[in-house]
Amino acid sequence: MPDEDLAATGAADSTQDPDMDRIHRATIEFGLDPAQAEHFQLLVDAVSEPSTPSVAASALAEALADPVVAEAAWTRWSDDDLLGGALDPLVAALDDQTDGGTAWLRARQHAWFGRTDDALEVLEESRDSGHPLILCELAAIEADRGNPVAARELLRQAGVDVDIDLDTEFDPRTADHGFGAELAEEIAPFAAIRPKAMAGRNDRCPCGSGKKYKQCHLGNELHSLNDRSGWLYVKLMRFIGVNSASFPAAIADDVVDGVVAEDLRSMVHESYLPVDLALFEGGVAQWFLDAKRTLLPNDEAELAQRWIDATRSVYEVERSRAGRMDLIDLATRKRMTVVDTVPDEPLEPGWKLIGRLVPVGDSFRAFGGFLPINEDMVDVMLEAFATRTLETVAIAIGQIFDTAATQDEIQDLFAQSLDTGELQALADEFSGDAD
Ligand SMILES: [Zn+2]
Repeated sequence: MPDEDLAATGAADSTQDPDMDRIHRATIEFGLDPAQAEHFQLLVDAVSEPSTPSVAASALAEALADPVVAEAAWTRWSDDDLLGGALDPLVAALDDQTDGGTAWLRARQHAWFGRTDDALEVLEESRDSGHPLILCELAAIEADRGNPVAARELLRQAGVDVDIDLDTEFDPRTADHGFGAELAEEIAPFAAIRPKAMAGRNDRCPCGSGKKYKQCHLGNELHSLNDRSGWLYVKLMRFIGVNSASFPAAIADDVVDGVVAEDLRSMVHESYLPVDLALFEGGVAQWFLDAKRTLLPNDEAELAQRWIDATRSVYEVERSRAGRMDLIDLATRKRMTVVDTVPDEPLEPGWKLIGRLVPVGDSFRAFGGFLPINEDMVDVMLEAFATRTLETVAIAIGQIFDTAATQDEIQDLFAQSLDTGELQALADEFSGDAD
């Protein structure tokens, strides 16, 4: 039976056969060749249309054996909210298959459900297969453990280009080169710049694993927690990307629900705000920590817990300098110093900002960025943030954009946007368009 939705949206220059049309689109979306696209569709249909006649397990395993096809299928399942329980029948059907691709799927499925030990066991059993997906997944585990050198070696074995230009900043929101290539970017600075040894060979490892140093982090010395804090946020983002990739966009849609201006909508979508909301109010950071607690160095697991415990708030700028800002939390009246993750241009004292400060050592970071608000929004925001409820917080933040009633006000808000990095570029772009 033809799929009516697909038939209705089918491109005019494409074939009239909806199946062929879907396969054609997969070649474009994921850069697949026609044979890969057929394999991809086989995997997608096995999950999204489980009532159709069953395909031989060996055919599904063959499809999964191609790393590009397997990753594309995972991305599509993720986009269609078909990870987790929806994958169970496929994973069960592949129970007897032993090659690298099916082992990878089993490991990802265990990891999604937080069964890290089971995932590790499956990966270790398949290590010798040399399958690139297995090696990349093992590399990710080494990265979570804080072992960038071991991770880089596994990526190299997997055929990933690990020669990364460190002058180009890595942004996990915009990177789109496949799991292994993005992981290579993530670990590159930590693998390149090595800290000194922290303990004697036979001492207990300072990471808290309980193992001897020579059996744990010798040769993979941990960077200071201060240096690893930004990496922890990237690990959280990698976790979202694998396990709940469509969640931030869904949150962004809620935030901009009443917003008409397309540029404003896309600015919110492309900022760190929806990611930060997904992680904290959305509960993904807790999911991450529950799953990865045994992999992360102890101090990083403790830090992640402190980040989860922190509350989004409204802050008043007290003092602003390059790379550093003193703020007063208007919920608690506490003074907090934010470092690194601050706007390039210093701000006037008295400005009110929303953000989510997380502790690192005795200062704070604002990985999710800042957004300025008007004085009359302060109480509304504080009340909403105190609920720590995703929907309430998303709706409240949406009001910031709603209340910018005129084009000028919206533009003003853009020009003053303080989100780190790309938000400012987008704001500049919008200002240019409006001229
Ligand atoms: Zn260790």
